[in-house]
Amino acid sequence: MMMSGRIAAALVAATLLAGACSQPEPATDRANANVLLVTIDTLRADRLGSWGYEPGNNAHGSPALDRLAASGVRFESAHATVPTTDPSHASILTGLYPRSHGLLVNASRAVDDLATLADWMRAQGKTTAAITARLGLDPPRRNLSGFDSSDSPQREQHWRNSREMVELTRKWLADNGDEPWFLWVHLWEPHKPYEPPSELRRGMMARHDQLPQRFSDPPRFLRSAVLPAEQVEAARGLYDGEVSHVDSALGAIVDLARQSSPRGEAPLIVVASDHGESLAERQQETGIGFGHGTLLYEETLHVPLIMQWQGKLAPRVITTPVSLVDLAPTVAGLLDPTRPFTAQGRDLSAWLSVEAQPPVAPFYAQRRPFRSPPLKRLAGSEEAWFETPWKLILAEQRPPELYRLDLDPDERSNLADQQPVRLARMSAALEAWKQANPPARSRKDGGKADINPSERAALKALGYLD
Ligand SMILES: [Zn+2]
Repeated sequence: MMMSGRIAAALVAATLLAGACSQPEPATDRANANVLLVTIDTLRADRLGSWGYEPGNNAHGSPALDRLAASGVRFESAHATVPTTDPSHASILTGLYPRSHGLLVNASRAVDDLATLADWMRAQGKTTAAITARLGLDPPRRNLSGFDSSDSPQREQHWRNSREMVELTRKWLADNGDEPWFLWVHLWEPHKPYEPPSELRRGMMARHDQLPQRFSDPPRFLRSAVLPAEQVEAARGLYDGEVSHVDSALGAIVDLARQSSPRGEAPLIVVASDHGESLAERQQETGIGFGHGTLLYEETLHVPLIMQWQGKLAPRVITTPVSLVDLAPTVAGLLDPTRPFTAQGRDLSAWLSVEAQPPVAPFYAQRRPFRSPPLKRLAGSEEAWFETPWKLILAEQRPPELYRLDLDPDERSNLADQQPVRLARMSAALEAWKQANPPARSRKDGGKADINPSERAALKALGYLD
């Protein structure tokens, strides 16, 4: 009763606020705003100052992202739907879980006829574009529609560094910035190899006496050996260096977006990561060191999410855990509540301008399937079901795991045996949700690969394909 009273009060407040805003500011002002979506690959929320990372741990920090977070809405507990690049970006753009958009493995295709956030923006009259940093992360080839143009690395180049991405953004905005636009920029760092520029490495030498120039697991990352502690520390230092590296690019891109927007009409800026990164926290028990795609613990699912809109959104922190499927409907809701974006995620826009937190809702994550994996734990399916503060992990090869994230954020204390009733109830809720959301792969048009032999070899070398 108490909760519903609070929600009702918040909704009344949201309605009043919307009414108050509509007088001095016609709805079209919001709808016409430019929108910048930046996704930073492999960025863990908990390596950022704005998420509480001790500044001393990273000499250069993440000042641009932290400034954006402090002046915008920071989603403290946002979660990827899958710790793999292409499927996660498909969730960001469609508001659907991977089992529903059908793109479960890198380089495969989403099912036909999905509406994306870019479609929604284009219908609103914006010029839409994607500029991405990794081979194959190319919306048309992944069957993700709505982009007037898409610029991705070609075969000979596996990825682009963030300096190049800033220049590509600068050029696109110079050529197209006069019309209302929606631009998605994908940045590669801090993805492996961890190889920050030398000036960033130098700043960290005090903490890491023998910091190597570069860290990358063996190409077959699933077979990486357990690394000694000093190598783990050094690799983590290099990861932090890459976070600082990408942060300066983010700052430059945000500045360019603001300069390309007419005076007094700030762009809506959305920053997210597609997944986090294991930094060898569980290498002893899992045999998995650095990387992502294989585990569903918070280090690979908990990602930063920021929505910053000068003059339209007051700074605040959303503490209710959310999923990246909420991103597209919420962005659409902020721009034009009269044209909702239909998705599995929730439109949280009304909650961003009121004091109350959005109500808790369950959400889902899964990892990609593996064909004949070298580690037994990776055979079969693995899924996570969140009912805040509880998190259930169900894997075919292991007993169930149940964690209470508010008391045990590192997921070290499996309570499945102590909580049989909760375990049964959450497992049933997950099963019911899956029944209601059958996999799109069963449809003829989903999950097909679109890849040529040289791209397959390149993605394999990156550890992206089996
Ligand atoms: Zn990624």
